[in-house]
Amino acid sequence: MTTAITPLIAGNWKMNGTSVALAEVGRLAERLRAGAPPRATVLICPPATLLADLNRIAAPAGIVSGGQDCHPALSGAHTGDISAPMLADLGAQYVIVGHSERRADHGETSALVADKARAALASGLVPIICVGETEAERRAGQAVAVVTAQLAASIPEDWAGHSIVIAYEPVWAIGTGLTPTTQDIIDMHRAVRMTLEARFGARGAGVRILYGGSMKPANAREILAIEHVNGGLVGGASLLASDFYAIISAL
Ligand code: PEP
Repeated sequence: MTTAITPLIAGNWKMNGTSVALAEVGRLAERLRAGAPPRATVLICPPATLLADLNRIAAPAGIVSGGQDCHPALSGAHTGDISAPMLADLGAQYVIVGHSERRADHGETSALVADKARAALASGLVPIICVGETEAERRAGQAVAVVTAQLAASIPEDWAGHSIVIAYEPVWAIGTGLTPTTQDIIDMHRAVRMTLEARFGARGAGVRILYGGSMKPANAREILAIEHVNGGLVGGASLLASDFYAIISAL
């Protein structure tokens, strides 16, 4: 891991959790307060319906919050959508854009993802831009080419330095219990870092690159120790305070 970069451990609750789930945030806050200060920024991205209440419990323990998606426009006639300024208004500091579930379920293209990231940046949010190959693409030996192409098209052309985060999430590893080999993660994160540095120079060297896909207490230490892995995007294992705390503590 690059030591100059503060790692980020981000929980993605997806479409899970009603107000009852906030008890887990309380448990996590208790553990964080009782233990040594975490070596990472700790982020939870709950359903937007829970953001305000979650912040009341999370913020005193130093946990920050984020949205799971935002519209590319800042406001307007888009029934059912949520804008980046609305997330910021609820206390969010980050927003996930381009998660593979949104790319698959809603046909989101990398160009749209770049527009969403631009809206996030304009609203003072840090976009977590997700990229990742499918199983077929990996089998065909195209994983690095697919991910670097997604990366090129998903970062706004006019990105000028306000923080962004990249999450490498192999689609076939999300929610499956499968993970790439350590060597595959090394190779991909190095390729992402090289792509960022080639395009953005020193700014690219400072971007946090998260690994996501079946990160669990049992594999977190090994994955988080890999060079250019600057934290994790955690789905299922972020729903239980004990599992999420174990991942945070693995750093
Ligand atoms: C995710 O949804 O971003 C994710 C990584 O999920 P999981 O940890 O459950 O594989």
